[in-house]
Amino acid sequence: MSSPERQKALKGMKDVLPPDIYLWQKVERTASELFSAYGFREMRTPVAEATAVFSRGIGEGTDIVEKEMYTFEDKGGRSITLRPEGTASAVRCFVENQLHTLPSPQKYYYLGPMFRYERPQSGRYRQFYQIGAEVFGSAAPAVDAEVMSMLRHFLMRLGLGSLNFQVNSIGCEECRPGYKQALLAYFAPVTGDLCPDCQRRYLHNPLRILDCKVRRCIELRKDAPRVTEHLCTGCEAHFRKLLDLLKLLNVPYTVNHEMVRGLDYYTRTTFEVTSEDLGAQNAVTAGGRYDNLVRNCGGPDTPAFGFATGIERIVDLLKQTLLPPEPAPAIFIAALGEQAHDAAMVIADGLREEHIWVELGEPAASLKSQMRKADRLSSEYVFILGDDELNSGLISWKRLSDGTAGKVSRADVGSFLSGRR
Ligand SMILES: [Zn+2]
Ligand SMILES: [Zn+2]
Repeated sequence: MSSPERQKALKGMKDVLPPDIYLWQKVERTASELFSAYGFREMRTPVAEATAVFSRGIGEGTDIVEKEMYTFEDKGGRSITLRPEGTASAVRCFVENQLHTLPSPQKYYYLGPMFRYERPQSGRYRQFYQIGAEVFGSAAPAVDAEVMSMLRHFLMRLGLGSLNFQVNSIGCEECRPGYKQALLAYFAPVTGDLCPDCQRRYLHNPLRILDCKVRRCIELRKDAPRVTEHLCTGCEAHFRKLLDLLKLLNVPYTVNHEMVRGLDYYTRTTFEVTSEDLGAQNAVTAGGRYDNLVRNCGGPDTPAFGFATGIERIVDLLKQTLLPPEPAPAIFIAALGEQAHDAAMVIADGLREEHIWVELGEPAASLKSQMRKADRLSSEYVFILGDDELNSGLISWKRLSDGTAGKVSRADVGSFLSGRR
């Protein structure tokens, strides 16, 4: 008989186990606590959506939609996609649930897995996790600044140092066409020298030439017109006010005229956050304003702003500076004999109800091996329960860190820990 085939997790997907999981929980807890203070509430959307949610929301011409989506047909012949990012789902949810009828602005955060069929490389996964936030229903630059400030506090609280917010404005429907014309005119004499991707971008989305990483293209765009010189009055005022507020809130920023972001839906503000702890080249977080997306997805005219941040990279960084804390039981009960073990189960049950972590020894194990196990688990206290203890109603205890010992009556077990920590 052949042995059963051993299965592996899919390429680019991985298990998260203790002790790493404690760092994940720390990141998630920090987000939900801090974001709540800014009035954000959690929105939990399905991981799968109709493909149109993303092709409409993210944009047909983007790398994500063209190359990276997990798209399949379900048994009913519908085209389904595993979400490659959070904003399009959040917008679908906002429109479907008519959240615009609630007082504006509506603020939501989300966290969970995203899926992109990318070539797995170090630190990149096909199932990866993001924490994001979206504000619906305000066009005020105050929203952009408030969210960026929240993000700064979030990353700092997790210990990320030397943060830099790179900000830009890519204009609106009114002023961007003029800027595109200026870019096309600038690149027209040199289109043949651009990389093949940029030659395509020249025809479809010339702004994206600005974030091409090919050296030739970087060189060619040296003197390209800057988007901030082509902003309409409204976009100009928005950008100025944003920069003023960032200064006021101590958000460290640099204006980066070349940062256009890869997504079509942005209007006005775009930004990325880098941390020197992660190598200044790599953005930890990115986001921006998307004032037309809700309307383009069938909702009412609703300006919006949001960001998403990857969890894996933050956890990797935390791991370098912070040993994942391995939690330990408060009490280990070493019980000798069946009767004592039965009694120990009752005691443990009562303590666990009070959210005290209690471990029990194996029913048939010797005292020595149970003590060894308590030690290996780094339990704070050991309770020893044998015939003597059962008869007298007094349980022997020992504190493993300093060897102190004593007795506690069964009736007082519940309050035992309160005076001792
Ligand atoms: Zn404008
Ligand atoms: Zn290029």
